[in-house]
Amino acid sequence: MRVYYDRDADVNLIKGKRVAIIGYGSQGHAHANNLKDSGVKDIGVGLRPNSGGVAKAEAAGLKVMDPAECAKSADVVMVLTPDEGQGDLYREKLGPNMKKGAALAFAHGLNVHFNLIDPRPDIDVFMIAPKGPGHTVRSEYQRGGGVPCLVAVAQNPSGNAMEVALSYASAIGGGRAGIIETTFKEECETDLFGEQTVLCGGLVELMKAGYETLVEAGYAPEMAYFECVHEVKLIVDLVYEGGIANMNYSVSNTAEYGEYMSGPRIVNDATKAEMKRVLADIQSGKFARDWMLENRVNQTSFKAMRRRLAEHPIEQVGEKLRAMMPWIAKNALVDRSRN
Ligand code: NAD
Ligand code: MG
Ligand code: MG
Repeated sequence: MRVYYDRDADVNLIKGKRVAIIGYGSQGHAHANNLKDSGVKDIGVGLRPNSGGVAKAEAAGLKVMDPAECAKSADVVMVLTPDEGQGDLYREKLGPNMKKGAALAFAHGLNVHFNLIDPRPDIDVFMIAPKGPGHTVRSEYQRGGGVPCLVAVAQNPSGNAMEVALSYASAIGGGRAGIIETTFKEECETDLFGEQTVLCGGLVELMKAGYETLVEAGYAPEMAYFECVHEVKLIVDLVYEGGIANMNYSVSNTAEYGEYMSGPRIVNDATKAEMKRVLADIQSGKFARDWMLENRVNQTSFKAMRRRLAEHPIEQVGEKLRAMMPWIAKNALVDRSRN
């Protein structure tokens, strides 16, 4: 595995370029502000005029333009809009307007890897994918650190796509932590697998099932929330800083023994067999196809599932308990009015 750091990148390369950041959401606000603070002077944020991001980007001192306008003059166009709309955006606004020889960049490989976008042959195509939420990409940078990034090149007619990509990654803080070389295929398939089985899908269902089991057995919902949701962060922080043994060092021997006895009963051979089927659906393109079809029907089931989850008592109980811990909100990474 090849890893690059700031010393391997020429950050001046990106400073001399005109960079278009399309979208000002989780990743967009982080990339735009980190690039600006790293000395990139010519940044345009591409947003639709009615977007909620316009006011936020302008409040951060950034220049906002229509995406097509923004793409016209840019040397690097970083696409940070939701994956499901990137195909139309490229075909309607970016592809027809980008300069000959410019670079098209992504923070996730989905559209290119699954052929939802077929980039013009004269442009470079690279990916800088921070391995963390956009709000962390920004907060780590401000603390003087950075979030590790993945880098990959899919098209390189200019011959220097990798140099520009590394320079970009360095300017958003990735070079402080490490920029790992990969491919669009590997990033895309592992990213989808991780978020579906462990990080988002697996974790949410695990927390919900634990919470429901305790509540259905007659325990107080608040107790169930603390044990099965709130404490997840405390445990994950210990794994994050020093691995699983570090976490086990900190918890009681009783907790550690229970981990060995009951953990494999919860995540068992059947779970792993299902994980393999999930991976197969990702690799075959079935997941990407289903998600794009879902978007053709205005996200009917997606929105219904989101609403159902919001109505789950776990969310109401959580809101009540978080209000008892005001320091959580004070240190919040997400402030919907600003980022
Ligand atoms: P987001 O939903 O937080 O923000 C999307 C932004 O794009 C918003 O500002 C929205 O107004 C704007 N937008 C939507 N449609 C647009 C259009 N047609 N033209 C112009 N602007 C438009 O998105 P996000 O979560 O930051 O994801 C962006 C990309 O980054 C995706 O490819 C995603 O896979 C990738 N990524 C995200 C994260 C993360 O932390 N969320 C992590 C790694 C990679
Ligand atoms: Mg992802
Ligand atoms: Mg306990």
